Amino acid sequence: MQKLAYTRTFGCRQNEADTERLRGALAARGYALTDDLAAADLALINTCAVREHAESKAFGHIGALKHWKNARKGRVLVVCGCMAEQDEIKRRIKLSYPHVDIVFGTKAPEDFQIPAGDALRGPPPKAGVPIMSGCDNFCAYCVVPYVRGRETSRDGAEIESEVAGLIKRGYKDITLLGQNVNSYRGGEGFTGLLKRLCAIDGDFWLRFMTSHPKDCSEDLIELMAAEPRMARHLHLPVQSGSDRILREMNRGYTAARHMSLTRRAKELMPDITLTSDVMVGFPGETEDDFAQTLELVEQTRFDSLFTFIYSPRRGTPAAELEQLPDEVKRRRFERLIELQNAISNSRHAALTGSVQRVLTDGYDSLNERPLSGRNSGGRLVRLTGPPELAGTFVEAEITGHNSWNLFGRVLT
Ligand code: SAH
Ligand code: SF4
Repeated sequence: MQKLAYTRTFGCRQNEADTERLRGALAARGYALTDDLAAADLALINTCAVREHAESKAFGHIGALKHWKNARKGRVLVVCGCMAEQDEIKRRIKLSYPHVDIVFGTKAPEDFQIPAGDALRGPPPKAGVPIMSGCDNFCAYCVVPYVRGRETSRDGAEIESEVAGLIKRGYKDITLLGQNVNSYRGGEGFTGLLKRLCAIDGDFWLRFMTSHPKDCSEDLIELMAAEPRMARHLHLPVQSGSDRILREMNRGYTAARHMSLTRRAKELMPDITLTSDVMVGFPGETEDDFAQTLELVEQTRFDSLFTFIYSPRRGTPAAELEQLPDEVKRRRFERLIELQNAISNSRHAALTGSVQRVLTDGYDSLNERPLSGRNSGGRLVRLTGPPELAGTFVEAEITGHNSWNLFGRVLT
């Protein structure tokens, strides 16, 4: 009987892309993939190290798998990814989780490797395509450069043929992935790569993440405005609105620089969706620093934010500094979320009555608005409409909203 493999991913889009590649490698070794853990002969857990919370979740999951492992002879448990890249974690797994059979970090051993283009992805319409890996920025709080190593870029022609192949197979929403896509060095630079990909035949949206404000250029924003295939979404993590904290974080830009980039984007693309990552409670953050973060959020009016409470990571410079009390961090976090929810709500309200192009990607007959999808800006839209439209571009009238969703009906 064919052996079955189950995979579970914690963390970011890059990790999801790594899992897709590992799924491809498992398929090449004769496994069929399953979503049913109980049926699986092999389970692979791809982990995240970016915050302590992600690590404890992964450890909880690995602990719970002891039962699964022992319930049937011959089962194999694999733990990999950013968390497993760290020696201390490797030791801890060996000592406290002996039911784990294979541990590796962000670089898979040879028998788990396949060419980048052979990843086993989910069905259309959305696909992530890594264009680079690693990070050279060493932000003072961040573990990524230590676990993913130095930046390397993929070859432009190889990326082009992968993207062209995906579009041929019906994918319509392609996200280029990297920790800092602006420092893509594969030949013609990032904007060169985008131009090359926008020239591929077909009806598709191209997006990217993550863009770093230090390296994000006006050229990139102008290209986004000029190319109809570029999705109208800029995710530009700001982290803090205080220049002093940004310096301490080693981010390499000022709050004013971030604001001038988002202002330019809105000037050229009034319908653009702006999103960001914001962190509260970095060591030494004062009430005044935090007020400057709120001020920036209020002025920029992001459509939505990924908000984080600073979490000390072993081996990073900021973990050595004196830490703020948890209570202070939590209160600031709540104030930030409250402000952002109000802004998201009013940004969504402004779209009521508009007509949006939406790429639908799911149908749930139990939902009052069964078709779900996203507009070019990446906003979640729930629509009334027939099931045969799932996976296609539709024109939709927006009739309502809350802080997270737009609601509407299909016009076409
Ligand atoms: N390369 C991307 C971010 C990757 S990590 C960039 O620079 O924008 C995604 C987000 O996790 C970061 O933007 C940051 O807000 C958050 N993050 C990273 N390290 C963290 C830590 N130690 N504690 C809390 N949040 C963290
Ligand atoms: Fe981490 Fe900074 Fe690199 Fe982003 S740019 S992955 S936050 S070190």
